[in-house]
Amino acid sequence: MAESQLSCLRCQSAMEIGFVPNPTHGQEVWFEGAAPTTFRGSFMIGKKRFVVIAYRCVACGYLESYARP
Ligand SMILES: [Zn+2]
Repeated sequence: MAESQLSCLRCQSAMEIGFVPNPTHGQEVWFEGAAPTTFRGSFMIGKKRFVVIAYRCVACGYLESYARP
């Protein structure tokens, strides 16, 4: 998928790249599997993970997130 060709699913306007920061741990990260019942640091061990990037529609503000390898 060419990033420059993304268009908004709602209004077909152009999308610009960005990210959604996590206030305590930097950038948002996607983890494989079910969410743990408690969020201790150990839940991250051995899990596949990808940094989340988000595209924003320049016209309506719609957000679309990707967790690419
Ligand atoms: Zn839009």
